[in-house]
Amino acid sequence: MRTAIFPGSFDPFTIGHADIIQRALSLFDNIIIGIGTNSLKQSIFPEDKRLQHIQKAYSNEPRVSVEIYTGLTVDFAKQHNAQFILRGIRCVADFEYERNMAEANKQLAGLETVILYTRPEYAHISSTLVRDLYQHGQDITPYIV
Ligand code: ADP
Repeated sequence: MRTAIFPGSFDPFTIGHADIIQRALSLFDNIIIGIGTNSLKQSIFPEDKRLQHIQKAYSNEPRVSVEIYTGLTVDFAKQHNAQFILRGIRCVADFEYERNMAEANKQLAGLETVILYTRPEYAHISSTLVRDLYQHGQDITPYIV
């Protein structure tokens, strides 16, 4: 059984995130979306709302589940016997960060990180952008699932 963790803040979960999941379903048997809690990052959407939103999006997809977790992603992965971490890369600015995380997670727990590149039409979509639009009263429905 190939299980991957897709960790992130998902504040909020966007069509870019959903695209990564959709494409990764052909690589893995199960994908567990982990909403990581990061006390340093100020969130806009409450955790339980993020959880409900993602649960609803995958209510018809038994191979995708979602949980909130605290602590290290490697520990969360161990709890679920996951062998892989799934991440997305949009642009060169994402690369360095993702590489450091992948190296750390490999060293800490032998976990392999699988990176998918974003579809070009979604490359500009980030949770940060969606939060900005939301805070300025714009309609964010085109960007979320
Ligand atoms: P984090 O705070 O851990 O970066 P995010 O929720 O912002 O969490 O992102 C989770 C993962 O999804 C990251 O690997 C990020 O690069 C990826 N991602 C975010 N937006 C997109 C997008 N539009 N297309 C592809 N991958 C994306």
